Amino acid sequence: MARLVVTGGAGFLGSHLCHRLLDRGDEVVCIDNLITGSLANIDDLFGRPGFTFVEHDVSAFIWVPGPVDGVLHLASPASPIDFERIPIQILKVGSLGTHNALGLAKAKGARFFLASTSEVYGDPLVHPQPESYWGNVNPIGPRGVYDEAKRFAEAMTMAYHRHHGLDVRIVRIFNTYGTHMRADDGRAVSNFIVQALQGQDLTVFGDGSQTRSFCYVDDEVRGFLALYDSDVVGPTNIGNPHEYTILQLAELVLEVTGSSSEIVFEPLPVDDPTQRKPDIARARDLLGWAPEVDLRTGIERTAEYFRRVLGGDAG
Ligand code: NAD
Ligand code: UDP
Repeated sequence: MARLVVTGGAGFLGSHLCHRLLDRGDEVVCIDNLITGSLANIDDLFGRPGFTFVEHDVSAFIWVPGPVDGVLHLASPASPIDFERIPIQILKVGSLGTHNALGLAKAKGARFFLASTSEVYGDPLVHPQPESYWGNVNPIGPRGVYDEAKRFAEAMTMAYHRHHGLDVRIVRIFNTYGTHMRADDGRAVSNFIVQALQGQDLTVFGDGSQTRSFCYVDDEVRGFLALYDSDVVGPTNIGNPHEYTILQLAELVLEVTGSSSEIVFEPLPVDDPTQRKPDIARARDLLGWAPEVDLRTGIERTAEYFRRVLGGDAG
């Protein structure tokens, strides 16, 4: 049994991670400032043995009394709509927040786990993306606040590893979806499902030919734990390699929900990547990890979740 700090633990992925860690017997100190997270994601954890919640902005100095075996740093807004809404907070949590979380891990002699992203590959010119690809990022575009903060976070994490001998893991997370996503999060999966359930038009940006590869949250978090528990130091892609166009995703959501909503086309956001698909050979070979939940099953589960949280509004 380990005592682990999870930053961003009230968010979509962080809350699932806190649940899985407690289920396997670890103690969890969840730190979150609730800027994009919600206590509703962790309300069943309060009062559970081994769980502590601290409301704190990790871009400011972090201190946790007592022993700490691991620091899992997930704190960061992650949705493209937040890139325009709170760009400075994103840059700060990716840089200062990562530095503080690394400092905590170093002071405690703990393992450090960084939630990085496929966005470090930018609008990739290599397809699918292996970890060895250095990426194609516009540093000064609207997405740059997130992409560059995460690239800095990776650089800082590897510097702590090389310079201080810190034990580190870096996961490059590809588009993940599932329960605990915010209904107004702005990402394609949540937007389309909520729009379909509420009888609104599904807003496909551009002509919908851009691609993404969607991983169900249970698979993703299982990958986090496999990586955390391994001795694999360098960045590792965790994502589902099945690639879909965004138009295919919208059509699948309509089919699964049985909605009679229409698909409408809206302008493509600046620097929206044209294609994305992980090369997961490293995770398969070194961790024995592969995703198991297909997109239709995952969309059914997520639609069921949104039906519940939207309550009477759900169609
Ligand atoms: P989320 O917004 O649901 O969760 C992020 C959490 O971090 C929220 O609870 C938020 O309140 C908290 N947070 C943000 N800034 C903070 C700060 N300064 N101090 C303390 N807490 C702070 O997003 P998510 O999708 O769960 O993403 C979690 C992590 O995974 C992020 O680091 C994100 O970059 C990464 N990621 C997610 C995806 C995805 O598809 N969901 C893809 C790639 C990377
Ligand atoms: N997208 C869309 N309609 C929406 C939300 C997103 O067509 O209502 C598109 C978006 O432009 C992108 C893809 O879906 O091409 C995935 O967007 P998301 O925000 O989910 O993730 P990311 O762009 O970070 O991969």
